[in-house]
Amino acid sequence: MPDWITHILSALIIAELLKVRKKSLLVLGVLLPDLLCKLYLLNVFTNIPIQLTTFMSTFHELVPAILASVLIAFFFYKNLMEAMILIPAGTLLHFLLDATTRHYFYTPWWAFFWADEYWILLFMFMIAYLGILLIKRFRNGNTGCNMHAQ
Ligand SMILES: [Zn+2]
Repeated sequence: MPDWITHILSALIIAELLKVRKKSLLVLGVLLPDLLCKLYLLNVFTNIPIQLTTFMSTFHELVPAILASVLIAFFFYKNLMEAMILIPAGTLLHFLLDATTRHYFYTPWWAFFWADEYWILLFMFMIAYLGILLIKRFRNGNTGCNMHAQ
């Protein structure tokens, strides 16, 4: 499973490529499946019964996660249309990225990396994101050098 930095980078790459204005909504959507399923840890720190928190792991399944992301989008009522598109799209992106890594218990044939090789994806996405930022900077004529600016 890719780590959270890789998930965030994937959302930022898509946001840069598609010129998404509200990148934070896409980033929220891409983190939601992992954040929601980690809510079961609440019973470690609080007196919430374990029966109420164990079902949270179902939010790392595609359909419950998409439904939860649509419901969470209603909290962003000022940008409801963007939220209704970007948060579920981010959640879908999360599962696409998760599908690139194999887990030891089930091994999908389409997965490229083993679960403990998350750093390969992290490195690839860091290079891709930095490359996109550099290309955008040079296309806009902003090289970061102010020596000639007057
Ligand atoms: Zn995941």
